[in-house]
Amino acid sequence: MQRRAFLAAGATAAGVALGVSRSTAGTPGMRREPTGVLMAGTPHETPVYVVEGDSAGPTAVVVGGMHGDERSGYLAAERVADWSVDAGRLVVLPRANRVAIERDTRRGEGGDLNRQFPPGARPTTALARGIWDRLVEAEPDVVVNLHSSKGIYGTHQEFVGQAVFPTAAGDAVAVAEETVATLNDAVVPWYMPLHDFLVGNVLHGTAPLLTHKVGGDLGRPAYIVEATEFLVDPETGARWTERAATELLTRHGLERTGEDR
Ligand SMILES: [Zn+2]
Repeated sequence: MQRRAFLAAGATAAGVALGVSRSTAGTPGMRREPTGVLMAGTPHETPVYVVEGDSAGPTAVVVGGMHGDERSGYLAAERVADWSVDAGRLVVLPRANRVAIERDTRRGEGGDLNRQFPPGARPTTALARGIWDRLVEAEPDVVVNLHSSKGIYGTHQEFVGQAVFPTAAGDAVAVAEETVATLNDAVVPWYMPLHDFLVGNVLHGTAPLLTHKVGGDLGRPAYIVEATEFLVDPETGARWTERAATELLTRHGLERTGEDR
């Protein structure tokens, strides 16, 4: 019910994509109104949030929900969309693949969305092009793409849970290493050693994934965050994933309100 009202509000704002939410606009306990929508008037229509800090700082783009069955990823992105920031600019697309989320499946229309971003070429579907064009328009200094996995990286074949994958740009690898260390200290329980986060392989722009393309085409620091849903409920996974986003973006100079350090 709340979700439906929320999407309807986004639809009315379709033509007004240029406004921004001031950092003071968020009301505690209430989800902020979207700033605009992507793919207006199509089945892919999905809200976009722009949050401006009062002080200058980096622009961060955060994307969630590229895979519709990765709940902790898009729940975390929705939490990020509710942040206020003191310095910097935050552009959040929490439910990138709305059709897949509504189906609760990895793929939406047109196949696996995160295989539609070939480095050096145009994205291969209208939705992927819409996401890419909005990302480029934001001129990001850093990009974070929130996913989740069913298993444990290095333990379960095919699964990548509990890892942060950096691009090769700037100090992304070092930032990923610091973030992983903090997450393992701060959120992963000591009695769950298999759930310790790892730094995944460096994304060199060699595969048609959004984060590869950001590294390859834009030369920007960017990260895939993969929390696991193995023995972890989606809300907890979302909390761990949100913390990962906080740690990554803070190290890039985005100052989240209430996160002094
Ligand atoms: Zn995914």
